[in-house]
Amino acid sequence: MDYNTLDNASLEEIETHAAERYEGISRRNLQLDMTRGKPGSEQLDLSDGILGIVGTGDCTGQGGDYRNYGILTGIPEAKDFFATYMEVEPENIIVGGNSSLTMMYDAIVGALLFGVPGGAGPWKDLGTIKFLCPVPGYDRHFAICERLGIEMIPVDMNDDGPDMDVVEKLVAADDAIKGVWCVPKYSNPTGIVYCDAVVERLAGMKAAAADFRIIWDNAYAYHHLGSGPASVQNILKACEAAGTSDRALMFGSTSKVTHAGAGVAMMAASANNIADATKKQFYSSIGPDKINQLRHVRFFENRDGLLSHMDKHAEIIAPKFAAVDQALESHLAGKEIATWTRPDGGYFVSVDLVEGCASEVVRLAGEAGVKLTPAGATYPLGDDPKDRNLRIAPTMPSVEEVKLAMEVFCVCVELATAKKLRG
Ligand code: PLP
Repeated sequence: MDYNTLDNASLEEIETHAAERYEGISRRNLQLDMTRGKPGSEQLDLSDGILGIVGTGDCTGQGGDYRNYGILTGIPEAKDFFATYMEVEPENIIVGGNSSLTMMYDAIVGALLFGVPGGAGPWKDLGTIKFLCPVPGYDRHFAICERLGIEMIPVDMNDDGPDMDVVEKLVAADDAIKGVWCVPKYSNPTGIVYCDAVVERLAGMKAAAADFRIIWDNAYAYHHLGSGPASVQNILKACEAAGTSDRALMFGSTSKVTHAGAGVAMMAASANNIADATKKQFYSSIGPDKINQLRHVRFFENRDGLLSHMDKHAEIIAPKFAAVDQALESHLAGKEIATWTRPDGGYFVSVDLVEGCASEVVRLAGEAGVKLTPAGATYPLGDDPKDRNLRIAPTMPSVEEVKLAMEVFCVCVELATAKKLRG
């Protein structure tokens, strides 16, 4: 039954019924958190073997004694391993600390303060700087831009990547546009995977700014939900083939592979960009946590070790995603009041509601004890102009908790939408 075609009396009946269910749920005193894409403790347990894998008298490798300072761009063993992980050559990678977000932030701050290869100087001296932001997207990317005073231009996200007709037009016309955020595999929050044509168009498009950068955040490179990791064309190779070798900066980390707070992050790029980043890094570090890098290499041994580890993650989280889909399907399907994604990987389900309902759903759910990511979080400056997109993060709670939370979510959607449609 399409709610959009119902008269006010029928909508009122639906609203009353939903309000009764909502009252019942509110009395359960739930305390559930579906806000952030964190791994659950069962997932973290999978990597506990990493903690004891490097011990006394056992901290040396090809690069010497890893307890000491030095080896700014990562130990050779980690460069080899993570080069395979990122599908690049070891000389094209910097293996860093525990956070890829930190590396992205540093890369952009470095560009603002000192410039990047191919550019005319520090971005801060050039007036307004703009980034393209595919939406819905990752709130922390947008937060970096907001913090650094970079103007954000939202671009619609399609099923196979950002709307490239718009991206090409904007990037060709405006030299103040210096970058675009991309989460190419199992995108946050829609779960979409960039198709070859999008990758090639990003690599080959004409850019008014000679120092335009693609921030290629491959945070979910191996994070499938049972079907094996999807493949995405390698942006560095695509750029090389298109004659734009310095255009892309790739990032990744093991935050959702091993321990989210104690993983290893990396950046891969052209020789020019690696040399530039290394020079900038000299001032802020005398070397990364090499012991943790060694732990990671020993723990996985090789790519097969990593792949079978990620299969175990999928076994744990796939039922949580299934619970989200089942709830949405059984409570909301056919009512034309919500559409949602069914990702093959990543950490999120993206839900689009009737315009003007997202904030009300978050409010109602919060008051019933289910914390959701704030409405608008998936848009620059927290402003979803249609107030309709919500991001569901099912990995951290248990399956039972996800089921409970989704029951609340669906009642809140019915209640908020019936009220909205009634006007
Ligand atoms: N990039 C994306 C797209 C993410 O979703 C997340 C975490 O949710 C991160 C980066 C954070 O990565 P890290 O833990 O390596 O800083």
